[in-house]
Amino acid sequence: MSNQNPVFIPGPTNIPDRLRLAMQVQTQDHRAPDFVETFAPVLEDTKKIFGAAEGQIVTFPASGTGGWEAAVTNTLSPGDKVLVARYGVFSHRWIDLCERHGLDVQVVECPWGTGAPADRFEAILSADNAHEIKAVLVTHNETATGVRSDISAVRHAMNAATHPAMMFVDCVSSLASMPFEFDQWGVDIAVSGSQKGFMLATGMAILCVSPKALAAMKTANLPRTFFDFRDMMAANASGGFPYTPPLQLIYGMRESLKMLFEEGLENVYARHTRLAEGVRRAVDAWGLKLVAQSPDLYSETVSAIIVPEGFDSNELTDHAFNTYGVSFGIGLGELNGKAFRIGHLGSLTDVMALSGLATIEMAMADLNYPVELGSGVAAAQEFYRAGSSSHAQAA
Ligand code: PLP
Repeated sequence: MSNQNPVFIPGPTNIPDRLRLAMQVQTQDHRAPDFVETFAPVLEDTKKIFGAAEGQIVTFPASGTGGWEAAVTNTLSPGDKVLVARYGVFSHRWIDLCERHGLDVQVVECPWGTGAPADRFEAILSADNAHEIKAVLVTHNETATGVRSDISAVRHAMNAATHPAMMFVDCVSSLASMPFEFDQWGVDIAVSGSQKGFMLATGMAILCVSPKALAAMKTANLPRTFFDFRDMMAANASGGFPYTPPLQLIYGMRESLKMLFEEGLENVYARHTRLAEGVRRAVDAWGLKLVAQSPDLYSETVSAIIVPEGFDSNELTDHAFNTYGVSFGIGLGELNGKAFRIGHLGSLTDVMALSGLATIEMAMADLNYPVELGSGVAAAQEFYRAGSSSHAQAA
């Protein structure tokens, strides 16, 4: 029997049958008149997930990394200065991508387990009287550490410094799982992908772009071809695509949006908050600590958990996979061997989360962790069963 177990990695996430079926469509001619009827409403509806009334949705056949590249190459020129904090593997990779594109990257180093330092950004931006910094880049949800940054605080810092830089936000592992307010937070480009909150296969980078970023596009001259917003937007405006679109994913996206709206975005966010809190109760009952340093930083989509001294988190995740057939996230970067991650996003119920907690608990017991078998599951059960009347949610 093939492995029927859900994954507990923080993306790609479990794909509900409804979305698997929606993606199973026969090839169709993307130059036929009906393509526009399928695609245009998807672009329009995706705005609601970003919280964007004015923003323009641009998608590419790519993963989130392609979305990062599209954001910077469409709006910046070689040597342009960008400000970004490093507090995990994903913020690091975006920095690396900017450096490789010849940008002048001012990096603020932060301890892993913390988030975007709005106060330090404010000081740096206030001192930049010549307005050399063209963009501030922020990873909303650092998937390596399970830290959510306060984007609204970064916006306030930029406003307090009266600095005109654009703000680009990576919401790859937060969008459609945690609240996102493109307009309210004054985001200029938000970058996401199909394989996390949207519960689809990997393969679509999904961006929301502000009018200010579109204006910057006119003078930006970093080289771009495949990821050129101008080609994509011109083709989309006449109902097409500048090259062959990922048709099956577009069908999947249409159904994913329907699912999210049927559940209701507020309910989707509340479900993630509840799932995450149950996991955190379990971590506490095990006597373990999160990488995230304080509750205001806790991610609702992924928890990174530090293993006790003398234990190797890779051995734990390997054992869970080899013995029980369940995948958990490994520790990334400086957390490799020191922490494991439980992804709790996308198509997931309380009951599914409990199965993950039970599995990792068995794996820890097998490896003689100082953890009482059943303690984490019991703590999560107590939390999930309280007020559980409406929790037989769609998955
Ligand atoms: N940003 C964040 C926060 C991520 O979690 C990931 C992937 O996990 C990425 C960017 C890169 O996205 P992708 O792997 O889809 O290229």
